[in-house]
Amino acid sequence: MTTPDRPRTLVTGGSRGIGAAVARRLARAGHDLVLAYRTDAEAATRTAAEVEALGAACTVVRADVVDPGAVDALFEAAGPLTGVVSNAGATLHIGPLADTPVDVIARTVELNLTSALYVARAAVRAMSVSRGGSGGVLVTIGSGAATTGSPGEYVQYAAAKAGVDAMTLGLAQEVARDGVRVVAVAPGIIETTIHADAGEPGRLARVGPSVPMGRPGDPAEVADAVAWLMSPEASYVTGTTVRVGGGR
Ligand code: NDP
Repeated sequence: MTTPDRPRTLVTGGSRGIGAAVARRLARAGHDLVLAYRTDAEAATRTAAEVEALGAACTVVRADVVDPGAVDALFEAAGPLTGVVSNAGATLHIGPLADTPVDVIARTVELNLTSALYVARAAVRAMSVSRGGSGGVLVTIGSGAATTGSPGEYVQYAAAKAGVDAMTLGLAQEVARDGVRVVAVAPGIIETTIHADAGEPGRLARVGPSVPMGRPGDPAEVADAVAWLMSPEASYVTGTTVRVGGGR
């Protein structure tokens, strides 16, 4: 596999929210981008145009990350990579576990943990030096919910995101001598449509004041942490989760 001249990073869930902010921030840091989206082609195209206006080359690919075949096809389409941001995820539902339908539990774990494992597997296959890659960085977007447990809201999501932290630690050690760093970022309460999409339009206003800094975060503040983790300045950082949660 050839080494790209510039950093070349795949972002899943790159169409909107945190993923789109990460794409814009990495473009400003000199990365070329591959943006993966699932349903919102219009948003993906809009983000791609913003990224290109910042001087980056950008390819848009449709892929549902819960489908392992689609993940492999996505990496095939992406070509050589030096970075992967595994960001696609959703809370899907708000309420106590006892009242959560079993299919919602299954879909939540599938989207927030199983798909992260598929993407991580493909990422280390693409970037490991021993497999012909040029080395690189995998950043998975976890959640502060992994350490709060999110009682009464989405315990199944918190459990899945805790799995991301364990995956990050174990996989980082597996590939530490193969040129690949593996890290996670755990956002707190960030202003995106994820909260309303889970069925409670007013959630941001309800939980925002509980953040020690007194406000929800901006997706750009998560993107800054991702960009640092992907940079040479973080060359000795692997196997850990960085919280970006305003103290929450
Ligand atoms: P958004 O709802 O704004 O964006 C979610 C993104 O994920 C979209 O680009 C969507 O693509 C994509 N996506 C969803 N399901 C799939 C799938 N099956 N396959 C491929 N892509 C998919 O959410 P956020 O930006 O807020 O969330 C990004 C990440 O951050 C998630 O992992 C989330 O769990 C995590 N997080 C967010 C927090 C917050 O407060 N916002 C807090 C903690 C963690 P499309 O639109 O094309 O369907």
